[in-house]
Amino acid sequence: MRKDATAAEIQGVMAAIDARGYKGHPIPGAQRTAIGITGNKGAVEAPAFESLPGVLEVIPVSHAYKLVSREVKAEDSVVSIGRDVKVGAGALVIVAGPCAVESLEQTLTVARAVKKAGAHLLRGGAFKPRTSPYSFQGLGEEGLKILAAAREETGLPVVTEAVDIEGLDLVEHYADVIQIGARNMQNFSLLRRAGRAKKPVVLKRGMSATLEEFLMSAEYILSEGNYDVILCERGVRTFSDFSRNTLDLAVVPAVKKISHLPIFVDPSHGTGRRDKVAPLSRAAVAVGADGLMVEVHHDPDRALSDGPQSITPAMFAELVGDLRQIAPVIGRSL
Ligand code: PEP
Ligand code: MN
Repeated sequence: MRKDATAAEIQGVMAAIDARGYKGHPIPGAQRTAIGITGNKGAVEAPAFESLPGVLEVIPVSHAYKLVSREVKAEDSVVSIGRDVKVGAGALVIVAGPCAVESLEQTLTVARAVKKAGAHLLRGGAFKPRTSPYSFQGLGEEGLKILAAAREETGLPVVTEAVDIEGLDLVEHYADVIQIGARNMQNFSLLRRAGRAKKPVVLKRGMSATLEEFLMSAEYILSEGNYDVILCERGVRTFSDFSRNTLDLAVVPAVKKISHLPIFVDPSHGTGRRDKVAPLSRAAVAVGADGLMVEVHHDPDRALSDGPQSITPAMFAELVGDLRQIAPVIGRSL
């Protein structure tokens, strides 16, 4: 749409899309609103749309993914969380907290520490996707209540994972951001449900997903009407055996080139090793990530999950200090 297009003109285009049996997706931006069209079998009748009031141009999308592509929306998307956090607006957003919510005391201890060090969002799993059915599976709804209590005290909005559709209903109720984990990146019914949620979504890259598969999964969420999606690179499986996964930092500029969605990097699952989290965090910021997701635990050797990759609050505070120096070098703030 033109920059000065009115709400009535946007409505008019939506009605014209509707009348043809297609689905319209108005995606507001800082400069202009873009309207994505899906559900068309063949080419869209460009001249008919171009003659509608307020329309600037009709751009056919060449990629299989549409709503996530810069062809539909050229400018960067900004995802707002809570009152003050904006992801993708230039300032780095740091998500920190334990892998799993273990108790109220543990969560509050870590939440207070990461808040003091400068984190913007609190993470912590209440539903844990564990490789073994005998490993700690998370506290479920009780864990969500603990996260809500930690938010109440610290003011940090909460990011937490939903592993299935029933869990997503609960996560949507308690949390500020819904996390879809690597193992569920292609759980298409879960993605569709997240697309109908009224909360932003962090979508983690599957451990063997190509960039196109990653973006297609995000497309599932947008196609249902939820445009507040943050991608998250968390490492992929390779032959490298010195770290848990291989953090694919090259995917950050690759995403930036073709998609308007913001992207986080998770150096914790990306490396699986405490001593590698800070160096890879620094690299992630340097390569242009919009934010980081870092696992922090006050007593990592006794953590119920992912202790080996969890850093201490002191290590986290030192890392944030380093990032404060790196961010301005590439035109970002922290
Ligand atoms: C997590 O964030 O704790 C998690 C399970 O991540 P992933 O889905 O990337 O493995
Ligand atoms: Mn974890």
